[in-house]
Amino acid sequence: MIKAIERVENTILDAIFPHQCLCGKWGEPLCSQCFGLISKNKTQLCPVCKKLSENGKTCPNCRQRTSLTGVMIFGDHEGLLKDAIWQYKYNFVKGMSEPLVRLLSEKFGVFIKKKQFVITSVPISKNRLNWRGFNQSELLAAGLSTSLSLEYKNLLVKTGKIKPQVGLTRKERIKNLKGKIELGSKINPKELKSKRIIIVDDVYTTGTTLEECAKTLRNNGAREVWGIVLSRD
Ligand SMILES: [Zn+2]
Ligand SMILES: [Zn+2]
Repeated sequence: MIKAIERVENTILDAIFPHQCLCGKWGEPLCSQCFGLISKNKTQLCPVCKKLSENGKTCPNCRQRTSLTGVMIFGDHEGLLKDAIWQYKYNFVKGMSEPLVRLLSEKFGVFIKKKQFVITSVPISKNRLNWRGFNQSELLAAGLSTSLSLEYKNLLVKTGKIKPQVGLTRKERIKNLKGKIELGSKINPKELKSKRIIIVDDVYTTGTTLEECAKTLRNNGAREVWGIVLSRD
């Protein structure tokens, strides 16, 4: 029922406030022309040493230094991609999640399907959720799971006091997050046993958030934990 009301509300809102693309064209939050102009990474890197690596897999030399099996990054945090993410996150244009999901699934869909990943998202604090009205990472993750017909599971929660990560150094970020990302209270670690999990996020800055999420999932039995993000800042 709530879903139905929400849908009606969204339809009405879309009629009153139709989407406008970044280029000024009315109709969609991102028109097909702008969508086609977004530049993507041609290669992927090991998340630790940043050497070239197929599908962003952590290279053998770095495996002891991270809980992440790999990280796939769509593009650099600049130009249209940066503007589209900004609209989504800070102007609360929820409809932008659709083209953003399409970017990820067109580029990485085949690999994700092949691996039969369980898709999850980076948790946000209650304060953030109240402020934004939605978890931007969750919306992308759920969209990706629908588009690829793979399972989506909300596995992680943020606990304790966490300062916003913006403006903190890498060291401060690690300290700020340490031990504060946990398995959701309804999740039985048995569900993670030998699973391959992929965590969806919007922007990759120092990678500490993904790392902390991956650590929690690996400690609870996940076999592989990957990250997938739209852009690297
Ligand atoms: Zn446009
Ligand atoms: Zn490496």
